[in-house]
Amino acid sequence: MTALGWAVLVVALLGVVLAAAALERERTRSRRRWDRWSTWVDEAVSGRLPAPTFEETAESSVDARLRRFLGSSLDARRRLDEERDAIQSLIGTIAHQAKLPLSNIILYAELVGEAELSPETRRRTELVLDQAMKLDTLVSTLVTASFLESGAIVVAPVPCRLDAVLERAAGEVATAAGERGCVLRVLPTAAVCLADPTWAREAIGNLMDNAVKYSSAGGVVVVGVEELEVFCRIDVTDAGVGIAEEETASIFRRFYRSPSTADDRPGLGIGLALTRQIVQLHGGFVRVRSAPGRGSTFSVYLPRAAPAGDSDAGVDA
Ligand code: ADP
Repeated sequence: MTALGWAVLVVALLGVVLAAAALERERTRSRRRWDRWSTWVDEAVSGRLPAPTFEETAESSVDARLRRFLGSSLDARRRLDEERDAIQSLIGTIAHQAKLPLSNIILYAELVGEAELSPETRRRTELVLDQAMKLDTLVSTLVTASFLESGAIVVAPVPCRLDAVLERAAGEVATAAGERGCVLRVLPTAAVCLADPTWAREAIGNLMDNAVKYSSAGGVVVVGVEELEVFCRIDVTDAGVGIAEEETASIFRRFYRSPSTADDRPGLGIGLALTRQIVQLHGGFVRVRSAPGRGSTFSVYLPRAAPAGDSDAGVDA
């Protein structure tokens, strides 16, 4: 090969090497750029604004624009969160404040009902009482929903006897059961679990309330307790309308109501969400077994209190 030929070959090889190096540099830069942008997006998703860059390159001007965009999205999200919190707290406050006047209306209507009244006045008084009770249920549900939304539920578990919890919860559902012509049977138990008695009553009471609400007239609801190794399992069983299999995952979502029952049974779809949240705060869980048209069993698992050959002292009834 002539000297010129060698020279051309060397230049060509040099060109190839330089092009490969340039390509590799560009690939590295592009990889870094994508890594940086995806880190920024991740940070923005978790609410942080990426640190600014101070270079005068075309690339850094894209960086700056992306940063501005992420910044304004974050601001918009923050504003939305603040507005949502404000609305939630307003609803919670109004609901709380409406409870007292409503209780007074119910009390006074009951007092009026005890007096000697003409049949017409009695009918009207009962109407007022009935409407006030409905309003009271709605307002109580709103108070509960605002608790649920704000994550303000704090449980203080203590060793507590389940028979007392179940009896109190059943007492609160007794009127509704009577009105539906349902029998609510609580089986005896000596189980002691680790739970906040007030919140446990609320959680299990919701299940009893549902069992009555979704039963037919004359239905029987049975509440029983099984002591397992780590948990106490509280079963609330009804022979009511049941739940379709494809719905069992949805019923614990806030505001979910089955289209098959939503029209003829009152409710807002937050009872089960609240029950699940309360039970989870105790370190427990909720399960459901159901067959449409045959009934349902909701099972609440609450931690057992340490088996104490100890005295009953300190056990909350
Ligand atoms: P609500 O009863 O106010 O609708 P819940 O959150 O308590 O709200 O229940 C959500 C849905 O789950 C109900 O709308 C109903 O469709 C279904 N459900 C709950 N408990 C039962 C039950 N014992 N039997 C049949 N369906 C039930």
